[in-house]
Amino acid sequence: MKDSHGRTIDYMRISLTDRCNFRCIYCMPAEGVVPLGHRDILRFDELVDIVSVAAEMGVKRIRLTGGEPLVRKGVVDLVAAFNAIPGIEDISLTTNGVLLPKMAAGLKQAGLRRVNISLDTLDPEQFTYVTRVGNLQDTLDGIEAALEAGFNPVKINAVTVRSLNQDFFQFAKMSYDRPLHMRFIEYMPVGESSGGDGTGWGAKDVVPSEEVRERIDAAAQAEGIGALMPAEESRPIGGGPAEYYRFEGAQGTVGFISPLSRHFCSSCNRLRLSADGHLMPCLFSDEYFDIRHAAETHDRARIAQVINLAIGNKPDEHHDRVGTERGMSQIGG
Ligand code: SAM
Ligand code: SF4
Repeated sequence: MKDSHGRTIDYMRISLTDRCNFRCIYCMPAEGVVPLGHRDILRFDELVDIVSVAAEMGVKRIRLTGGEPLVRKGVVDLVAAFNAIPGIEDISLTTNGVLLPKMAAGLKQAGLRRVNISLDTLDPEQFTYVTRVGNLQDTLDGIEAALEAGFNPVKINAVTVRSLNQDFFQFAKMSYDRPLHMRFIEYMPVGESSGGDGTGWGAKDVVPSEEVRERIDAAAQAEGIGALMPAEESRPIGGGPAEYYRFEGAQGTVGFISPLSRHFCSSCNRLRLSADGHLMPCLFSDEYFDIRHAAETHDRARIAQVINLAIGNKPDEHHDRVGTERGMSQIGG
């Protein structure tokens, strides 16, 4: 499947719910989002129909996200159902990790291949400040559970925010002794939650990846473990738009994802499906196409039409527009 700019579209990010067991300050308001009603979110049979039509059209990889995808009831069965769809080669998950100790083994058995765990800080107090309700140890336990269950690769995503003053080197070092792929992602001031909710964060809080890498290198050299080396050959599966580096002798890698300082729109291969059945061509745009009505009636031809519409309307790039009306918990990050 090619879009009108010649890009192959073979990846779909699916938000399973807008609910979450955290309330991250940059993602949703303190009281949470007004949750979608049960009938507003796509049912499992509808999701399976959409993915199977998309697979016939060339989608090979799907990522489950949210909200927190693991709070959606029955998610293990859903993974198994996706795994049985011909043409789907790779299923991955983005999670805050809290439910992994309970669910990792079942998810692995159902056919989930890889997980990305979000972790922005290794300071317990700052972790609770950012997530509003979370405990650092729960997410660290989730990382252990993911390694133990045999997911490969296990990636850790940290959003970099200037006001948080994170210790980037401490993070990067987690890739040294364990096969962990640490990735730094530039904060994206999107949705109402950016600035409007008391975080006061905005464009000034974007820490360019280049600066993060320089700060890691300076600390690494001071500690005598040497600067990061480019490591494209160690790129983990599904590496996406990240640029990869590693410390000499490390088991894992350190990646940088720079949606703002270095656009990767020209290699964009994805569509996004919101929990309420909106197919979105681009993270940074408010444009969407309703696929729920087609899915409700199991109208596969109409589902294919909506997928084609979304692909046909993928913009060439985001042109530095980073504001949307919806927060990340609704878009799926
Ligand atoms: N709950 C899951 C989690 O936190 O991994 C999945 C959904 S969450 C919306 C997906 C990712 O989006 C997380 O890694 C989160 O840090 C990131 N995210 C949320 N708001 C963001 C923002 N304004 N800028 C950059 N990343 C953001
Ligand atoms: Fe929940 Fe993930 Fe948003 Fe945090 S970033 S509130 S864990 S959906």
